[in-house]
Amino acid sequence: MTGFDVIVVGGGPGGSTAAGLVAADGHRVLLLEREHLPRYQIGESLLPATVHGICALLGVRDEIERAGFVRKHGGMFRWGSSPEPWTFAFAASDRMAGPTSYAYQVERTRFDTILLRNAARLGADVREGHRVLGTLRAGGRVTGVRYLDESGRERTATARFVVDASGHTSRLHHDVGGTREYSPDFRNLALFGYFRGGARLPEPDAGNILCAAFADGWFWYIPLSAGLTSVGAVVRQDAAARVRGDAETAFRGLIADCPLVSELLRGARRATEPPYDRLRVRKDYSYDRTSLYCPGMVLVGDAACFLDPVFSSGVHLATYSALLAARSINSTLAGLVPEERCFAEFEARYRHEFGLFRDFLLGFYRLKADERSYFRHAGRVTGHRGDDRTAFLDLVGGMSSGDFDAFGEVLAEGAQLQLRGLLGAAAGDEPPMFPGGLVSTPDGRRWQVPGG
Ligand SMILES: Cc1cc2nc3c(=O)[nH]c(=O)nc-3n(C[C@H](O)[C@H](O)[C@H](O)COP(=O)(O)OP(=O)(O)OC[C@H]3O[C@@H](n4cnc5c(N)ncnc54)[C@H](O)[C@@H]3O)c2cc1C
Repeated sequence: MTGFDVIVVGGGPGGSTAAGLVAADGHRVLLLEREHLPRYQIGESLLPATVHGICALLGVRDEIERAGFVRKHGGMFRWGSSPEPWTFAFAASDRMAGPTSYAYQVERTRFDTILLRNAARLGADVREGHRVLGTLRAGGRVTGVRYLDESGRERTATARFVVDASGHTSRLHHDVGGTREYSPDFRNLALFGYFRGGARLPEPDAGNILCAAFADGWFWYIPLSAGLTSVGAVVRQDAAARVRGDAETAFRGLIADCPLVSELLRGARRATEPPYDRLRVRKDYSYDRTSLYCPGMVLVGDAACFLDPVFSSGVHLATYSALLAARSINSTLAGLVPEERCFAEFEARYRHEFGLFRDFLLGFYRLKADERSYFRHAGRVTGHRGDDRTAFLDLVGGMSSGDFDAFGEVLAEGAQLQLRGLLGAAAGDEPPMFPGGLVSTPDGRRWQVPGG
């Protein structure tokens, strides 16, 4: 039996972020990932808050910038009452204007590997090919995990905290108590694959995601690097029979129903190299949990909750929840703030961010309206003080939490100031997000009592 401060289960974006931020604070972190990276994952369209917020905090933004991913300046939607597509650009919001007005469309094989290797660089003990089987408990706390090592031998490891970041297939999430609740509102099936030679939208939208509604659902069309395009049909449950049977035939039929996408794919051919050579199906039913933590254990990313992918919020919510969990763990381990208070702050902020996307999406799916109505809806949901379009942009850029305020402004002023800017006002000046709540320290890695 080996002892650590923290054990992180899963080496996706949520796990790598949590492990990196806790290890960088000087704690002993063990990360167990069942696969060997690079491994395939869906979820390729990122938000500016992930690239310029979380990745900067992890010290990995420059590597991401150099990786040759496609720049995403915003999105194009054929959605609602207007037959014409409408577009949005992150740069139109003051919070993102300038050098932070874009995100990336990433091959997750490469993106996730960069984050995982970075967690190791920050000091985490990263072990791939290690599958966690269950948690250990003692005295009302989760105290560690049982796992299979690479040779298939069962072992145990103990820690003050276990972070479950093992994604939607998590077997551990029950261990915090409570239940996983599936939303009756977003019950979709996704069928997706990859093409070479797909056309690009005209500049300046060439790197943007396109979401195009059709009779039975909607399509994503995501330009990846080296001429690769990710194409997925998200089909409503009442039309799910279309996805059963031969997937190739079903996919062709769905594409034919969406003229915008079939036009872009004219002349394109399906990718033939692994892992892009086959069609995949995912139920992307959205879910939430009644509990997100218990003494000694916390859930982040898809292990905790998942929301319909139309606004590409998955990696943002995974990495943002990992940041909140890391702050809570670091503050508790340092004896700065009582554990329960830290995790109450984690849960309140996480539910707030998840809730904004969920409430916006409910209206986005139900309203058959024009884009101005969607922007108004975003304004109502977020209570944004600016105009409705900016409310929409800040929400879909992952900026509504205010946790990454002002990063654009401070980019030129050096790393120290940049980090402070990323996290809002200087320590002590930032008001808590909730009455009686906590604020982050200037380096972003811990909580503190306001004014403390
Ligand atoms: C159809 C669809 C489209 C999507 N599109 C987007 C998009 O465009 N943009 C976006 O941001 N998000 C998108 N998402 C969401 C995105 O895929 C997830 O939200 C994101 O990958 C969650 O990250 P994570 O770190 O929580 O989990 P994951 O990325 O799933 O990582 C979990 C890791 O845990 C490992 N693991 C699992 N079990 C164990 C175990 N027992 N022991 C050890 N390791 C284990 C897995 O191997 C995996 O590496 C989409 C989702 C779907 C379904």
